[in-house]
Amino acid sequence: MMKPRSNKRQGPSTRAIHLGYDPASENGALTPPVYMTSTYAFESVEQGAEIFEGKREGYIYGRTKNPTQGLLEERIADLEGAEAGLVVSSGMGAISATLWTLLKAGDRIVADKILYGNTFALLTKGLSKFGVGVDLVDFKDHDAVARAAPGARVLYFETPANPNLRVIDIATVTGIARRAGAVSIVDNTFATPILQRPIELGADLVVHSATKYLGGHGDLLAGVAVGKADVIHEIRMNGLRYLTGAVVAPLTAFLVLRGLKTLELRVRQHSHSALAIAQLLAEHPGIASLAYPGLPGSPDHAVAMGQMSAGGGLVAFELKGGYAAGVAFMNALGIASRAVSLGDAETLVQHPASMTHATYGAEERARHGISDSLIRMSVGLENTEDLIDDVEAALGAISGKVSP
Ligand code: PLP
Repeated sequence: MMKPRSNKRQGPSTRAIHLGYDPASENGALTPPVYMTSTYAFESVEQGAEIFEGKREGYIYGRTKNPTQGLLEERIADLEGAEAGLVVSSGMGAISATLWTLLKAGDRIVADKILYGNTFALLTKGLSKFGVGVDLVDFKDHDAVARAAPGARVLYFETPANPNLRVIDIATVTGIARRAGAVSIVDNTFATPILQRPIELGADLVVHSATKYLGGHGDLLAGVAVGKADVIHEIRMNGLRYLTGAVVAPLTAFLVLRGLKTLELRVRQHSHSALAIAQLLAEHPGIASLAYPGLPGSPDHAVAMGQMSAGGGLVAFELKGGYAAGVAFMNALGIASRAVSLGDAETLVQHPASMTHATYGAEERARHGISDSLIRMSVGLENTEDLIDDVEAALGAISGKVSP
Protein backbone atom coordinates (compact mmCIF):
# COMPACT_ATOMS: atom_id res chain seq x y z
CA MET A 1 0.00 0.00 0.00
CA MET A 2 1.39 3.35 -1.01
CA LYS A 3 1.53 6.27 1.36
CA PRO A 4 -1.90 8.03 1.34
CA ARG A 5 -1.94 10.77 -1.29
CA SER A 6 -4.17 13.11 0.64
CA ASN A 7 -4.28 14.57 4.12
CA LYS A 8 -6.20 17.27 5.96
CA ARG A 9 -3.55 19.93 5.35
CA GLN A 10 -3.96 19.73 1.59
CA GLY A 11 -6.27 21.93 -0.45
CA PRO A 12 -9.78 20.90 -1.56
CA SER A 13 -8.82 19.92 -5.11
CA THR A 14 -6.02 17.61 -3.95
CA ARG A 15 -8.38 15.94 -1.49
CA ALA A 16 -11.28 15.76 -3.94
CA ILE A 17 -8.98 13.99 -6.42
CA HIS A 18 -7.17 11.58 -4.06
CA LEU A 19 -8.94 11.11 -0.73
CA GLY A 20 -9.97 7.57 0.19
CA TYR A 21 -8.76 5.79 -2.93
CA ASP A 22 -5.58 3.83 -3.62
CA PRO A 23 -5.32 2.58 -7.24
CA ALA A 24 -3.24 -0.37 -6.00
CA SER A 25 -6.36 -1.73 -4.28
CA GLU A 26 -8.16 -1.91 -7.66
CA ASN A 27 -5.58 -3.44 -10.03
CA GLY A 28 -3.95 -0.05 -10.51
CA ALA A 29 -7.12 1.48 -12.01
CA LEU A 30 -6.47 5.21 -11.83
CA THR A 31 -10.15 6.13 -11.50
CA PRO A 32 -12.31 4.40 -8.88
CA PRO A 33 -14.44 1.62 -10.36
CA VAL A 34 -18.20 1.71 -10.71
CA TYR A 35 -19.62 -1.18 -8.70
CA MET A 36 -22.61 -2.27 -10.76
CA THR A 37 -24.17 -4.57 -8.20
CA SER A 38 -27.43 -4.54 -6.33
CA THR A 39 -26.55 -7.11 -3.66
CA TYR A 40 -23.46 -8.50 -1.88
CA ALA A 41 -22.52 -12.11 -1.15
CA PHE A 42 -21.56 -13.06 2.41
CA GLU A 43 -18.80 -15.60 3.03
CA SER A 44 -21.01 -17.37 5.56
CA VAL A 45 -24.35 -16.97 7.30
CA GLU A 46 -22.46 -15.94 10.44
CA GLN A 47 -20.56 -13.20 8.60
CA GLY A 48 -23.81 -11.91 7.05
CA ALA A 49 -25.46 -11.83 10.47
CA GLU A 50 -22.57 -9.82 11.92
CA ILE A 51 -22.79 -7.26 9.12
CA PHE A 52 -26.55 -7.00 9.64
CA GLU A 53 -26.03 -6.48 13.37
CA GLY A 54 -23.45 -3.75 12.70
CA LYS A 55 -20.68 -5.75 14.45
CA ARG A 56 -18.64 -5.90 11.28
CA GLU A 57 -18.15 -3.45 8.38
CA GLY A 58 -19.62 -4.61 5.08
CA TYR A 59 -22.13 -4.05 2.34
CA ILE A 60 -25.56 -5.68 2.39
CA TYR A 61 -27.80 -4.35 -0.37
CA GLY A 62 -27.67 -1.47 -2.84
CA ARG A 63 -30.47 0.52 -1.25
CA THR A 64 -28.29 1.59 1.67
CA LYS A 65 -24.78 1.78 0.19
CA ASN A 66 -22.53 0.96 -2.74
CA PRO A 67 -18.69 1.31 -2.72
CA THR A 68 -18.68 3.96 -5.50
CA GLN A 69 -21.28 5.91 -3.53
CA GLY A 70 -19.26 5.31 -0.33
CA LEU A 71 -16.15 6.98 -1.77
CA LEU A 72 -18.23 9.93 -2.95
CA GLU A 73 -19.78 10.25 0.51
CA GLU A 74 -16.33 10.29 2.09
CA ARG A 75 -15.07 13.00 -0.27
CA ILE A 76 -18.09 15.27 0.09
CA ALA A 77 -18.08 14.94 3.88
CA ASP A 78 -14.38 15.82 3.83
CA LEU A 79 -14.93 18.91 1.66
CA GLU A 80 -17.72 20.11 3.97
CA GLY A 81 -15.68 19.40 7.13
CA ALA A 82 -18.30 16.90 8.32
CA GLU A 83 -17.91 13.51 10.01
CA ALA A 84 -20.00 11.60 7.48
CA GLY A 85 -22.03 11.94 4.32
CA LEU A 86 -24.93 10.37 2.49
CA VAL A 87 -25.56 10.54 -1.25
CA VAL A 88 -29.01 9.93 -2.71
CA SER A 89 -30.80 10.26 -6.03
CA SER A 90 -31.65 13.99 -5.98
CA GLY A 91 -31.49 17.11 -3.86
CA MET A 92 -35.17 16.69 -2.99
CA GLY A 93 -34.37 13.08 -2.05
CA ALA A 94 -31.69 14.31 0.38
CA ILE A 95 -33.92 16.99 1.90
CA SER A 96 -36.92 14.71 2.27
CA ALA A 97 -34.92 11.71 3.58
CA THR A 98 -33.40 14.06 6.19
CA LEU A 99 -36.63 15.76 7.25
CA TRP A 100 -38.74 12.58 7.28
CA THR A 101 -36.08 11.01 9.53
CA LEU A 102 -35.83 13.90 11.99
CA LEU A 103 -39.50 14.93 12.24
CA LYS A 104 -42.65 13.26 13.49
CA ALA A 105 -46.27 14.38 13.90
CA GLY A 106 -46.50 17.10 16.52
CA ASP A 107 -42.97 18.43 15.86
CA ARG A 108 -42.37 21.88 14.41
CA ILE A 109 -39.93 23.07 11.74
CA VAL A 110 -38.99 26.74 11.44
CA ALA A 111 -37.73 27.63 7.97
CA ASP A 112 -36.66 30.78 6.17
CA LYS A 113 -39.36 32.28 3.96
CA ILE A 114 -37.16 32.09 0.83
CA LEU A 115 -36.62 28.48 -0.24
CA TYR A 116 -36.27 26.51 -3.46
CA GLY A 117 -39.86 26.03 -4.71
CA ASN A 118 -40.05 22.28 -4.10
CA THR A 119 -38.51 22.54 -0.63
CA PHE A 120 -41.25 25.07 0.09
CA ALA A 121 -43.79 22.56 -1.28
CA LEU A 122 -42.33 19.69 0.81
CA LEU A 123 -42.81 21.76 3.95
CA THR A 124 -46.15 23.38 3.24
CA LYS A 125 -47.85 20.61 1.23
CA GLY A 126 -45.95 17.49 2.42
CA LEU A 127 -44.81 17.61 6.05
CA SER A 128 -47.79 19.74 7.11
CA LYS A 129 -50.16 17.01 5.81
CA PHE A 130 -48.64 14.57 8.31
CA GLY A 131 -49.00 16.76 11.39
CA VAL A 132 -45.67 18.60 11.37
CA GLY A 133 -46.04 22.31 12.22
CA VAL A 134 -44.34 24.61 9.70
CA ASP A 135 -43.40 28.22 10.51
CA LEU A 136 -41.94 30.36 7.74
CA VAL A 137 -39.94 33.22 9.23
CA ASP A 138 -37.66 35.90 7.82
CA PHE A 139 -34.23 34.51 8.84
CA LYS A 140 -32.62 37.90 8.33
CA ASP A 141 -34.71 39.06 11.29
CA HIS A 142 -32.75 37.36 14.09
CA ASP A 143 -35.22 38.42 16.79
CA ALA A 144 -38.02 36.73 14.84
CA VAL A 145 -35.94 33.54 14.53
CA ALA A 146 -35.15 33.62 18.27
CA ARG A 147 -38.88 34.00 19.05
CA ALA A 148 -39.84 31.10 16.77
CA ALA A 149 -37.00 28.68 17.69
CA PRO A 150 -37.91 27.51 21.23
CA GLY A 151 -39.69 24.16 21.00
CA ALA A 152 -38.79 23.68 17.31
CA ARG A 153 -37.13 20.42 16.27
CA VAL A 154 -35.49 21.83 13.12
CA LEU A 155 -34.33 25.23 11.82
CA TYR A 156 -33.90 25.12 8.04
CA PHE A 157 -32.51 27.64 5.54
CA GLU A 158 -30.64 28.18 2.28
CA THR A 159 -27.82 30.68 1.82
CA PRO A 160 -27.49 32.23 -0.69
CA ALA A 161 -31.18 31.46 -1.11
CA ASN A 162 -32.95 30.38 -4.26
CA PRO A 163 -34.00 32.46 -6.23
CA ASN A 164 -33.11 35.95 -5.01
CA LEU A 165 -29.68 35.22 -3.41
CA ARG A 166 -30.63 36.53 0.03
CA VAL A 167 -27.78 35.74 2.41
CA ILE A 168 -28.47 34.41 5.89
CA ASP A 169 -25.90 34.82 8.68
CA ILE A 170 -25.07 31.16 9.31
CA ALA A 171 -23.22 31.51 12.63
CA THR A 172 -25.96 33.68 14.16
CA VAL A 173 -28.85 31.44 13.11
CA THR A 174 -27.14 28.16 13.99
CA GLY A 175 -26.31 29.71 17.39
CA ILE A 176 -30.01 30.44 17.93
CA ALA A 177 -30.84 26.85 16.94
CA ARG A 178 -28.25 25.41 19.33
CA ARG A 179 -29.54 27.46 22.28
CA ALA A 180 -33.09 26.33 21.48
CA GLY A 181 -32.05 22.67 21.22
CA ALA A 182 -33.08 22.53 17.55
CA VAL A 183 -31.21 20.81 14.70
CA SER A 184 -29.94 23.38 12.18
CA ILE A 185 -29.90 22.41 8.50
CA VAL A 186 -28.32 24.54 5.77
CA ASP A 187 -28.84 24.00 2.05
CA ASN A 188 -25.37 24.81 0.66
CA THR A 189 -26.21 24.14 -3.01
CA PHE A 190 -25.51 27.68 -4.24
CA ALA A 191 -22.20 28.27 -2.44
CA THR A 192 -20.71 24.74 -2.42
CA PRO A 193 -18.06 23.77 0.17
CA ILE A 194 -15.48 25.58 -1.95
CA LEU A 195 -16.96 28.96 -0.96
CA GLN A 196 -18.67 28.24 2.35
CA ARG A 197 -18.60 25.49 5.02
CA PRO A 198 -21.68 25.79 7.25
CA ILE A 199 -20.61 22.94 9.59
CA GLU A 200 -17.63 25.07 10.67
CA LEU A 201 -20.12 27.87 11.39
CA GLY A 202 -22.22 25.69 13.69
CA ALA A 203 -24.65 23.89 11.35
CA ASP A 204 -25.65 20.36 12.36
CA LEU A 205 -26.43 19.18 8.85
CA VAL A 206 -25.75 20.43 5.33
CA VAL A 207 -27.80 19.36 2.33
CA HIS A 208 -27.15 19.79 -1.39
CA SER A 209 -28.61 19.35 -4.76
CA ALA A 210 -25.53 17.62 -6.23
CA THR A 211 -27.32 17.99 -9.56
CA LYS A 212 -25.86 21.49 -9.57
CA TYR A 213 -22.21 22.48 -8.96
CA LEU A 214 -21.05 19.18 -7.38
CA GLY A 215 -21.94 17.22 -10.51
CA GLY A 216 -21.36 20.36 -12.53
CA HIS A 217 -22.19 19.24 -16.06
CA GLY A 218 -25.97 19.12 -16.26
CA ASP A 219 -25.97 15.39 -16.93
CA LEU A 220 -27.24 13.87 -13.67
CA LEU A 221 -29.47 14.29 -10.62
CA ALA A 222 -28.15 13.55 -7.13
CA GLY A 223 -28.42 14.84 -3.56
CA VAL A 224 -26.27 14.97 -0.45
CA ALA A 225 -26.61 15.26 3.32
CA VAL A 226 -23.58 15.57 5.62
CA GLY A 227 -23.23 15.91 9.38
CA LYS A 228 -22.44 13.88 12.50
CA ALA A 229 -21.87 10.17 11.78
CA ASP A 230 -24.71 8.92 14.03
CA VAL A 231 -27.27 11.30 12.47
CA ILE A 232 -26.19 10.44 8.92
CA HIS A 233 -26.44 6.73 9.81
CA GLU A 234 -29.97 7.29 11.07
CA ILE A 235 -30.93 9.12 7.85
CA ARG A 236 -29.42 6.29 5.77
CA MET A 237 -31.15 3.50 7.71
CA ASN A 238 -34.54 5.27 7.91
CA GLY A 239 -34.84 8.17 5.46
CA LEU A 240 -33.08 6.42 2.61
CA ARG A 241 -33.74 2.74 3.29
CA TYR A 242 -37.54 2.84 3.63
CA LEU A 243 -38.94 6.38 3.99
CA THR A 244 -37.90 7.50 0.51
CA GLY A 245 -35.87 4.74 -1.18
CA ALA A 246 -34.11 7.56 -3.06
CA VAL A 247 -31.05 5.48 -4.01
CA VAL A 248 -28.31 7.01 -6.16
CA ALA A 249 -27.26 4.86 -9.14
CA PRO A 250 -23.58 3.72 -9.00
CA LEU A 251 -22.85 5.33 -12.36
CA THR A 252 -24.30 8.62 -11.14
CA ALA A 253 -22.09 8.44 -8.04
CA PHE A 254 -19.11 7.95 -10.36
CA LEU A 255 -20.07 11.02 -12.39
CA VAL A 256 -20.34 13.16 -9.26
CA LEU A 257 -16.91 11.87 -8.15
CA ARG A 258 -15.60 13.05 -11.51
CA GLY A 259 -17.32 16.41 -11.06
CA LEU A 260 -15.74 16.92 -7.64
CA LYS A 261 -12.24 16.74 -9.14
CA THR A 262 -12.82 20.07 -10.92
CA LEU A 263 -15.21 21.63 -8.40
CA GLU A 264 -12.77 24.20 -7.04
CA LEU A 265 -11.57 25.20 -10.52
CA ARG A 266 -15.10 25.50 -11.80
CA VAL A 267 -16.52 27.41 -8.86
CA ARG A 268 -13.70 29.95 -9.03
CA GLN A 269 -14.37 30.49 -12.76
CA HIS A 270 -18.17 30.67 -12.27
CA SER A 271 -17.58 33.31 -9.57
CA HIS A 272 -15.14 35.26 -11.74
CA SER A 273 -17.58 35.54 -14.65
CA ALA A 274 -20.62 36.14 -12.44
CA LEU A 275 -18.84 39.06 -10.76
CA ALA A 276 -18.00 40.53 -14.18
CA ILE A 277 -21.65 40.22 -15.27
CA ALA A 278 -22.88 41.69 -11.98
CA GLN A 279 -20.53 44.65 -12.45
CA LEU A 280 -21.88 45.19 -15.97
CA LEU A 281 -25.50 45.02 -14.77
CA ALA A 282 -24.81 47.34 -11.82
CA GLU A 283 -23.70 50.09 -14.23
CA HIS A 284 -26.52 49.59 -16.73
CA PRO A 285 -29.42 52.10 -16.73
CA GLY A 286 -31.96 49.41 -17.60
CA ILE A 287 -31.49 47.50 -14.33
CA ALA A 288 -34.02 48.10 -11.53
CA SER A 289 -32.49 45.82 -8.89
CA LEU A 290 -29.52 43.50 -8.61
CA ALA A 291 -28.37 40.86 -6.13
CA TYR A 292 -24.90 39.35 -6.30
CA PRO A 293 -23.36 38.53 -2.91
CA GLY A 294 -19.82 39.18 -4.17
CA LEU A 295 -20.54 42.73 -5.37
CA PRO A 296 -19.85 45.65 -3.01
CA GLY A 297 -23.10 47.55 -2.65
CA SER A 298 -25.26 44.47 -3.29
CA PRO A 299 -27.71 43.61 -0.49
CA ASP A 300 -26.08 41.30 2.08
CA HIS A 301 -22.57 41.80 0.66
CA ALA A 302 -21.00 42.27 4.10
CA VAL A 303 -22.65 39.19 5.64
CA ALA A 304 -21.82 37.16 2.53
CA MET A 305 -18.14 38.06 2.59
CA GLY A 306 -17.98 37.16 6.28
CA GLN A 307 -18.84 33.55 5.44
CA MET A 308 -18.11 33.04 1.72
CA SER A 309 -14.74 33.29 -0.03
CA ALA A 310 -16.32 34.57 -3.30
CA GLY A 311 -19.76 35.46 -4.60
CA GLY A 312 -20.62 32.25 -6.48
CA GLY A 313 -22.04 31.73 -9.95
CA LEU A 314 -25.57 33.09 -9.66
CA VAL A 315 -26.85 36.57 -10.35
CA ALA A 316 -30.44 37.73 -9.69
CA PHE A 317 -31.85 40.95 -11.11
CA GLU A 318 -34.89 42.86 -12.29
CA LEU A 319 -35.11 45.05 -15.36
CA LYS A 320 -36.88 48.37 -15.58
CA GLY A 321 -40.01 47.56 -17.53
CA GLY A 322 -40.76 44.57 -15.29
CA TYR A 323 -41.78 41.16 -16.54
CA ALA A 324 -42.14 42.15 -20.23
CA ALA A 325 -38.62 43.56 -20.28
CA GLY A 326 -37.33 40.44 -18.54
CA VAL A 327 -38.93 38.13 -21.10
CA ALA A 328 -37.56 40.22 -23.98
CA PHE A 329 -34.08 40.16 -22.42
CA MET A 330 -34.12 36.39 -21.87
CA ASN A 331 -35.33 35.74 -25.42
CA ALA A 332 -32.60 38.02 -26.82
CA LEU A 333 -29.73 36.08 -25.21
CA GLY A 334 -27.70 34.03 -27.68
CA ILE A 335 -25.25 31.97 -25.61
CA ALA A 336 -27.34 31.54 -22.46
CA SER A 337 -30.03 28.87 -22.54
CA ARG A 338 -33.49 29.48 -21.14
CA ALA A 339 -33.60 26.62 -18.64
CA VAL A 340 -34.08 25.88 -14.95
CA SER A 341 -31.27 24.33 -12.88
CA LEU A 342 -27.87 25.87 -12.26
CA GLY A 343 -24.20 25.11 -11.77
CA ASP A 344 -23.67 23.70 -15.27
CA ALA A 345 -20.96 24.53 -17.81
CA GLU A 346 -23.70 26.19 -19.87
CA THR A 347 -25.07 29.57 -18.78
CA LEU A 348 -28.73 29.14 -17.84
CA VAL A 349 -31.31 31.85 -17.35
CA GLN A 350 -34.77 31.41 -15.89
CA HIS A 351 -37.83 33.23 -14.58
CA PRO A 352 -38.51 32.00 -11.01
CA ALA A 353 -42.12 33.23 -10.77
CA SER A 354 -43.25 31.06 -13.69
CA MET A 355 -40.70 28.27 -13.28
CA THR A 356 -38.78 27.18 -10.14
CA HIS A 357 -41.00 29.10 -7.72
CA ALA A 358 -44.42 28.55 -9.30
CA THR A 359 -45.16 26.28 -6.29
CA TYR A 360 -45.36 29.39 -4.11
CA GLY A 361 -48.51 30.81 -5.77
CA ALA A 362 -48.77 34.51 -6.71
CA GLU A 363 -49.96 35.74 -3.31
CA GLU A 364 -47.27 33.80 -1.40
CA ARG A 365 -44.55 35.02 -3.74
CA ALA A 366 -45.64 38.62 -3.19
CA ARG A 367 -45.73 38.07 0.59
CA HIS A 368 -42.31 36.43 0.64
CA GLY A 369 -40.65 38.98 -1.63
CA ILE A 370 -40.12 36.88 -4.79
CA SER A 371 -40.99 39.44 -7.43
CA ASP A 372 -42.64 38.53 -10.73
CA SER A 373 -39.96 40.38 -12.70
CA LEU A 374 -36.99 38.63 -11.08
CA ILE A 375 -34.54 36.88 -13.44
CA ARG A 376 -32.04 34.33 -12.18
CA MET A 377 -28.90 33.69 -14.19
CA SER A 378 -26.56 30.76 -13.55
CA VAL A 379 -23.33 31.96 -15.10
CA GLY A 380 -21.58 29.10 -16.90
CA LEU A 381 -18.03 28.29 -17.92
CA GLU A 382 -18.08 29.88 -21.37
CA ASN A 383 -15.39 32.56 -21.77
CA THR A 384 -16.15 35.61 -19.65
CA GLU A 385 -15.79 38.06 -22.55
CA ASP A 386 -18.30 36.10 -24.65
CA LEU A 387 -20.82 36.10 -21.81
CA ILE A 388 -20.38 39.83 -21.28
CA ASP A 389 -20.95 40.40 -25.01
CA ASP A 390 -24.07 38.24 -24.92
CA VAL A 391 -25.60 40.08 -21.94
CA GLU A 392 -24.66 43.49 -23.37
CA ALA A 393 -26.17 42.64 -26.76
CA ALA A 394 -29.41 41.39 -25.14
CA LEU A 395 -29.69 44.54 -23.03
CA GLY A 396 -29.05 46.62 -26.15
CA ALA A 397 -31.63 44.70 -28.17
CA ILE A 398 -34.42 45.40 -25.71
CA SER A 399 -33.62 49.02 -24.85
CA GLY A 400 -36.05 51.28 -26.65
CA LYS A 401 -38.51 48.40 -27.25
CA VAL A 402 -39.61 48.28 -23.62
CA SER A 403 -40.14 51.59 -21.88
CA PRO A 404 -38.11 51.95 -18.66
N1 PLP B 1 -32.02 22.92 -3.12
C1 PLP B 1 -31.82 23.96 -3.96
C2 PLP B 1 -31.26 25.25 -3.43
C3 PLP B 1 -32.14 23.83 -5.31
O1 PLP B 1 -31.94 24.86 -6.14
C4 PLP B 1 -32.69 22.60 -5.77
C5 PLP B 1 -33.06 22.41 -7.19
O2 PLP B 1 -33.06 23.33 -7.97
C6 PLP B 1 -32.90 21.56 -4.86
C7 PLP B 1 -32.55 21.76 -3.55
C8 PLP B 1 -33.48 20.25 -5.30
O3 PLP B 1 -32.51 19.51 -5.94
P1 PLP B 1 -32.82 18.38 -7.07
O4 PLP B 1 -33.34 19.10 -8.27
O5 PLP B 1 -31.49 17.74 -7.28
O6 PLP B 1 -33.83 17.45 -6.49
